[in-house]
Amino acid sequence: MQNTFNTYIKEIFSSIQGEGLYVGQKHIFVRFCKCNLNCKFCDTDFNIKNAKKYSIDELSEKLKSLDADVVSFTGGEPLLDWEFLKEFLKKYKNKLNKKIYLETNGTCYKELEKIIDYIDIIAMDIKLKSATEEENNFSINEAFIKTALKKELFIKIVFDENISNEEIKETANLAKKYNLKLILQPKMPISKNLDIEEIFEKFYSYYHNIFLIPQTHKFLNLA
Ligand code: SF4
Repeated sequence: MQNTFNTYIKEIFSSIQGEGLYVGQKHIFVRFCKCNLNCKFCDTDFNIKNAKKYSIDELSEKLKSLDADVVSFTGGEPLLDWEFLKEFLKKYKNKLNKKIYLETNGTCYKELEKIIDYIDIIAMDIKLKSATEEENNFSINEAFIKTALKKELFIKIVFDENISNEEIKETANLAKKYNLKLILQPKMPISKNLDIEEIFEKFYSYYHNIFLIPQTHKFLNLA
């Protein structure tokens, strides 16, 4: 079936998951090209010049050819291509026999509702203003969590020395309200002005279910 969705995929490859609760596990990464945010530290290449418009059948063939038990849809923001994903997962999720892992910025909650039934694991990356210069969106993030809770869900944040006490409190309390694991990732390269233990302790004073897990792909030179 032809791809009529205006969905472009930048790259598909297998590698070792570099962050979050599944760090160190082999995944197949499918990188989409669109995003609804504009984060300062973003290093994603959104140019569709070298991207491919896969049909859902071609995508299935490509995924079958790669040896890993988890498919990680990432971006960009993969939920912006929810129509393509829904069509693909409706037809191939069971046949593929792989876990479906969604890497998302946790803002597209209406789109998530459309495909939540096909997703197994959600890694929700909350973007903090202190790191990205994009406005904090905690109420939108909470709406996202309410839908995402139907599946396995955890939260990640990237922080640097500019993180505010208010952001720490809001993020910790949001994770606490829904009893979600919260992964703290210092922004790489780590600034000499960043006191990681101090920030960790501030989070810990609000919530104990937190994990300091750096983005390992950045220093292990993984894809
Ligand atoms: S949400 Fe991710 S892909 Fe989108 S602009 Fe921010 S860092 Fe880049």
